[in-house]
Amino acid sequence: MSADNKPASSRAGMKKQLPEKFINYKHVWVFVELERGEVHPVSWELLGEGRKLADKLGVQLAGVVMGPPAATTRAAVEGSYRYGADTVYLMEDPLLTDYRNEPFTKAMTDLVNTYQPEILLLGATTLGRDLAGSVATTLATGLTADCTELAIDDEGSLAATRPTFGGSLLCTIHTLNFRPQMATIRPRVMAMPEAKDGEVSGGLIEVPLNMKEDDVITKILDFIADNTTNKAQLAYADVVVAGGMGLGKPENFKLVKDLAEVLGAEYGGSRPLVQKGWIDSDRQIGQTGKTIRPKLYIAAGISGAIQHRVGVEGADLILAINTDPNAPIMDFAHLAIIGDAMTILPALTEAFRKRLS
Ligand code: FAD
Repeated sequence: MSADNKPASSRAGMKKQLPEKFINYKHVWVFVELERGEVHPVSWELLGEGRKLADKLGVQLAGVVMGPPAATTRAAVEGSYRYGADTVYLMEDPLLTDYRNEPFTKAMTDLVNTYQPEILLLGATTLGRDLAGSVATTLATGLTADCTELAIDDEGSLAATRPTFGGSLLCTIHTLNFRPQMATIRPRVMAMPEAKDGEVSGGLIEVPLNMKEDDVITKILDFIADNTTNKAQLAYADVVVAGGMGLGKPENFKLVKDLAEVLGAEYGGSRPLVQKGWIDSDRQIGQTGKTIRPKLYIAAGISGAIQHRVGVEGADLILAINTDPNAPIMDFAHLAIIGDAMTILPALTEAFRKRLS
């Protein structure tokens, strides 16, 4: 662990004592999250990251696809090749139609026990978090949640880095004595890799689930989609406008919403705004909120504390609006307007309204 927010580069003093039963564990696996026919994009982001780890280790990269016998499941297999998987482990079974912890945990633990991967990555989504925890406990192995960086150290061990102590430190965690080494990574933390064009193919290992509906105690009676129209879609938005405490009072947050509307953007804010009830919690940006990677991020009245920074620094262009030229956000913003957000936000809204109408 290092206090300067840099991952520790060595694990001197820690001894690798991998038991005999784990020495054949090899290859990097990524869980391809398929829900109601759609692959969560974090799966492709993780295949991109998994490719780098597999290349460093000189091993294969595999996607793990679990779903019902359906064209959408087969499309997830093809997508896995397109985003870099050499091989796909496929479990197709009607029990894997909607996510339930028991069949998915059995499917994954059976695959791991049979085919023995050394690294297993999952998205830190609602589904991925649930599955990762139960798979890690069933296999009695280590899991590092919400990683911000993954690397292979000099001894071939996964170095999984995540913020700790409220984000004031980064710690790098190793699973030295157990396999697989598991990690979850939030959507948008890793960059989306280029998809391969044209025909794609790879190895396919189809494995039966061997489970009956009677063995599953959870029953899905109905599925009610959350169609709330104002639900935040921050993680994958191209443009995000956000406000912070510099807005002074809750009424001024409307200026952020107005600019977002004109730009066809999503809006969000810093954590104190959620704590004060100015915005919903699913609009919080940062370490304990959403990680975003928009083409343009406009931050008005946000100081740029480290917990906010880690959630936005993947943006292509960051524009800070702040009265303080020495605010921490100036260290990572690409452009800045030094001035009062209450004057600048309406001026931008007006200018874009004219230009875009
Ligand atoms: P402030 O730090 O108060 O900054 C306000 C800024 O507005 C200042 O830079 C000021 O110069 C500027 N300003 C003032 N008046 C104006 C004006 N008229 N016009 C323009 N600018 C003006 N924070 C997050 O955002 N996301 C997280 O996920 C998150 N997670 C956290 C997790 C933990 C465990 C902890 C301990 C903290 C976390 N925080 C998080 C909080 C974080 O440390 C900061 O306190 C927070 O980001 C500060 O919010 P702010 O920038 O809106 O407010």
